[in-house]
Amino acid sequence: MPGFELFGAEEKKEVNEVLETGILMRYGFDGPRKGIWKSKELEAAVCATFGTQYAQLTSSGTAALTTAMAALGVGAGDEVIMPAFTFVASFEAILSMGAIPVLVDIDESLTLSPAAVKAAITPKTKCVMPVHMCGSMADMDALVEICKEHHLILLEDACQSIGGTYKGKHLGTIGHAGTFSFDFVKTITCGEGGVVMTNDKEVYIKSDAFTDHGHDHVGVDRGADLHPALGYNFRISELHAAVGLAQIRKLDTFLTIQKKNNHILRSYLEQVPGIQFRVVPDPAGDSGSFLTWFLPSQEHTEKAIAAFKEAGILAGNFYWFGNNWHYIRKWDHLKNATSLYPLSEAQQNALIALQHTDFSKSDAVMSKCISTAISLTWTEEQVHEKGAAFLAALKKILA
Ligand SMILES: *Cc1c(COP(=O)(O)O)cnc(C)c1O
Repeated sequence: MPGFELFGAEEKKEVNEVLETGILMRYGFDGPRKGIWKSKELEAAVCATFGTQYAQLTSSGTAALTTAMAALGVGAGDEVIMPAFTFVASFEAILSMGAIPVLVDIDESLTLSPAAVKAAITPKTKCVMPVHMCGSMADMDALVEICKEHHLILLEDACQSIGGTYKGKHLGTIGHAGTFSFDFVKTITCGEGGVVMTNDKEVYIKSDAFTDHGHDHVGVDRGADLHPALGYNFRISELHAAVGLAQIRKLDTFLTIQKKNNHILRSYLEQVPGIQFRVVPDPAGDSGSFLTWFLPSQEHTEKAIAAFKEAGILAGNFYWFGNNWHYIRKWDHLKNATSLYPLSEAQQNALIALQHTDFSKSDAVMSKCISTAISLTWTEEQVHEKGAAFLAALKKILA
């Protein structure tokens, strides 16, 4: 799954080129940087690799989501529909824009249920944010259709699905904009970083300025840049971009290993009657970073977790239902609207209302779901050993 597992000489070489010049900033210093522009190079590589016209690097995936929303004009009072199963960054970015996160059910794809999205649309809805969780995708045809019909912005959070595709298009390049995270545990890493991808030139130009205090980056003198609109500092540094450049060149290798290990492990779980797999709208596009499977019930799943623990094979198996970073059930700080600074009244009301919102459909899916993270460093022998150990532990539970 994570690129940091195969960190080596390539990353060091790229970083060293930046260290040689000492120019750690992505803009300006044209003379002393001696032609080294790692951020620009990585942006070009993102465009070429994922088939998007424009890419704007940011300091994190959260910053990429925030930037994309700003560039798409999502802000105060706008409702953004997002899934109840995601990483906390989704609602953090929405709240930071003054917008209102509207959390809705996921289905057995572990991503936005199109029916739940439809049901949540109000006159205030501005944007739908599917999150392609755990290496695989949402039902994009259905979501594109809904957004067209209701004139909504479609912003893809593909932070966890770098290299995944849907009907031949890379995840993150289908909506009005899409984002990746390059944090330390993502498929390719910069250490910290992210990117906004879009085919809309206006959205790109706005993203570019927004991440750098509103600078228009038109002239050669940074000090003389105009500021067509307010911005922030969500810049990536050249050191981080250098790491990402080495990593993106290895993406094909990562994906090949991931998919191979994923398929071997799956072949073991397929032998266990009662085990089912996550619904994948386009199976050919699964990036393979996780293998996500269902047991028949919550009770079986809790027993499986206990059995895996006892057998010493729990590491890398995620029971999201019981974890406090990825699922609404344990997001008490969100549901209590606990904020260090005042939220708007509309935001507070929306968050407090989550305490009584019915997520039983999502609960039914998440309570019987385990995601197994696929490592890039497993040998083929180790994957087979792991599969056999899974099989032995599960057969007892499902006997
Ligand atoms: C990692 C992640 C993010 C944000 O990434 P950071 O770079 O850590 O800010 C956003 N959404 C999802 C689904 C993620 O997994």
